[in-house]
Amino acid sequence: MSASILVVGSVAFDSVKTPFGEAHEILGGSATYFSVAASYFAPVRVVAVVGKDFSDEHLGVFRKHKIDIEGLTRVAGNTFRWKGEYGYDLNEARTLDTKLNVFETFNPVIPESYRSSEYVFLGNIDPELQLRVLQQIKRPRVVACDTMNFWIKGTLDALKRTIQHVDILIINDSEVRMLGDEANLVRAARKVLGLGPKTLIVKRGEYGVLMFHGNSIFGAPAFPLEDVYDPTGAGDSFAGGFMGALAHAGEINERVFRRGIIFGSVMASFNVEKFSLERLTDLNRAEIDERFRQFKALTHFEEL
Ligand code: AMP
Repeated sequence: MSASILVVGSVAFDSVKTPFGEAHEILGGSATYFSVAASYFAPVRVVAVVGKDFSDEHLGVFRKHKIDIEGLTRVAGNTFRWKGEYGYDLNEARTLDTKLNVFETFNPVIPESYRSSEYVFLGNIDPELQLRVLQQIKRPRVVACDTMNFWIKGTLDALKRTIQHVDILIINDSEVRMLGDEANLVRAARKVLGLGPKTLIVKRGEYGVLMFHGNSIFGAPAFPLEDVYDPTGAGDSFAGGFMGALAHAGEINERVFRRGIIFGSVMASFNVEKFSLERLTDLNRAEIDERFRQFKALTHFEEL
């Protein structure tokens, strides 16, 4: 039995426009994408808040994937909303509107049964809330964390306090540059590692992922796809596959991290094939493992 993963993050209604279509108020949020992706590998516990407009029907996705929702509270008010669009360059989302709603007054109280979680993912959310959650966990083995430009610009001091307690930071390339205050990605990565995390995983959209870990750098491409409809949630699906693979492996070393990066990339590649969580909720282990093998073939080479 794999160790459990605790995730705190947003559960949201997203309105998304891509060059291939648009969708209004569909289920999204960092915790949602993360937990569904991770659920294929290990048991998942979610901490988040939703409003009265979040129906039992919306909870169906969590139930289908046997995600523990004891820490998902429903309070008066509206669920978090995010509105974004993508141009033909699907690598960068343009945020049109963010409504924190019930997250504005959220004070996360971690259920007793969650407090001994070994794997913790601080999904993209107010860094103050990320830290408050982390302080309630007894002795986590691995703490990973995501964030975005919204928080780097708006709450930099709080973010720096949070990432001091993080083992693995998983953010995209423009966020690394912004946080490291440096145009060159490698230099920026070194500066970000100076803020506390032992490992930095840089998400680079369709160009894949770079991991900085001690003195070593590992790179993986993204899976080449003909049909990419909606990149929303790719980062969280990546993190879900990555943390899921870590929890499943039980060991913590660079070999496991590297394999986790490939499982993360596999989950992200499935997620972008359809809108919202449509593809992610409809997978099986055999499909995941098959794409993992295709990844191996994609990146395999030998010395002469
Ligand atoms: P990503 O995996 O980076 O594409 O994240 C997509 C998800 O992040 C969307 O489903 C949004 O609901 C959520 N999101 C966007 N902005 C924020 C924010 N400021 N805080 C928390 N979640 C957000």
